[in-house]
Amino acid sequence: MVPMRYLEEMARGLDARAALREASRCLLCLDAPCSKGCPAGTDPGKFIRSLRFLNEEGAAYVIRINNALGALCARLCPTESLCQKGCLRAGLDKPVDIGGIQRYLTDLEAENGWEFLSPGEDTGKKVAIVGSGPAGLEAAAVLRSYGHGVVIYEKEEQAGGVLRYGIPAYRLPEEVLEREIKRILDLGVELRTKAEVGRDVDSDALKKEYDAVLYCIGYTKGKVVEPFKGKENVVSALDLLRKIKKDPASFKAPENVLIVGGGDVAMDVIGSLKRLGSRRLVCVAYEELGEFRASQKEFGDALKEADSIIAGYVPESYDGKETVFRHRFLESRLSIKADLTVLAVGQTYEAEGLPLVFEKGTVKGTFHTSGDPKVFFAGDIAPEKGKLVVHAVKSGKEAAMIIDRRIGGHKNGK
Ligand SMILES: Cc1cc2nc3c(=O)[nH]c(=O)nc-3n(C[C@H](O)[C@H](O)[C@H](O)COP(=O)(O)OP(=O)(O)OC[C@H]3O[C@@H](n4cnc5c(N)ncnc54)[C@H](O)[C@@H]3O)c2cc1C
Repeated sequence: MVPMRYLEEMARGLDARAALREASRCLLCLDAPCSKGCPAGTDPGKFIRSLRFLNEEGAAYVIRINNALGALCARLCPTESLCQKGCLRAGLDKPVDIGGIQRYLTDLEAENGWEFLSPGEDTGKKVAIVGSGPAGLEAAAVLRSYGHGVVIYEKEEQAGGVLRYGIPAYRLPEEVLEREIKRILDLGVELRTKAEVGRDVDSDALKKEYDAVLYCIGYTKGKVVEPFKGKENVVSALDLLRKIKKDPASFKAPENVLIVGGGDVAMDVIGSLKRLGSRRLVCVAYEELGEFRASQKEFGDALKEADSIIAGYVPESYDGKETVFRHRFLESRLSIKADLTVLAVGQTYEAEGLPLVFEKGTVKGTFHTSGDPKVFFAGDIAPEKGKLVVHAVKSGKEAAMIIDRRIGGHKNGK
């Protein structure tokens, strides 16, 4: 049995009254800094205004046509550093809860069965997308809206990328993800799962079959660093979260766990293991407290769930059970024994057999275009700033627009 605490969405949404109250707090700024603060162009200034004048359907429409994954961004965006960062209302009391409003509207869209996306007139052009994370899904929605045929190749059994196999259920319920993916597939996108390009599917054959190939392969491999390489009782955070998400019912949480790292991924490991029954969770990070990369919200939750979070230590040695850390600046050492050590120290790509050249962890190329006129890329592997879902959405959207222009199919895209 999977504990309900793991499956149930932790954050409560706003009800109609609270959403309207939030919208009424908006100062209706002329230059809408909130809209400028959304990388994906979801345009909060516009949807908040529609809600404020009681046009809920119009408000939900603005979100969806600008961001095919609007319900996911509503839940996953660290809004304090994006749209809400520039909110002028903060000068009076606190920023408008833009994430809360977006979630209310996208939930309402689902309840009412509103459908705002539709495929464009058939162009006869075909695009292959490799990877079904947020970048691939957004690109698929945009390309279908232009009327191009789209086939997604995904190496896993199900679509979604990190949304499916990384982010825990208590932050992103399965049914919300399913709804978002179904809406895009219903546009006429073909999904081929268990199809790893570079292994099961030849990348050259894709180039021959399609007018363009878009790689959105993400960072699917967790890094294992010294002194943990090749040792037992160590797992990368990505592997652990993937294992839990694939089969939470048969996952047996270890009693005492050491988590190394201080970003959102480390916080997800803490939240998941706590809910699944681990007794002692200790997190040790290289960063000092003020430098932690985790979002305010995730860090705040983890502070309540971990037994201790220790900042400023570097792992020095590990014998399969006990890790010795030294402090970054002070003459101080720390030794911690655990049943399992989880490394949340970064992710990297797996690109064997793919026509992509990497430089410093991202694909070499300019604005989603590689040196090959048929090969494009987007999402985490692109060199543009930002490694969040909303950045992947932005990236997928931009890549789709560039492909449209290159293949010249869409009647307005030339
Ligand atoms: C644990 C975790 C928690 C996170 N939490 C948040 C959060 O709360 N908010 C936020 O904004 N961001 C969060 N992020 C970051 C965010 O999830 C990523 O930035 C985003 O998913 C990147 O999207 P993507 O489409 O580029 O790649 P991914 O989501 O990684 O998807 C890539 C897809 O490509 C597939 N693939 C790879 N290689 C092949 C191949 N050769 N053939 C076929 N398929 C292939 C993979 O299986 C995968 O499905 C989190 C990341 C992690 C790891």
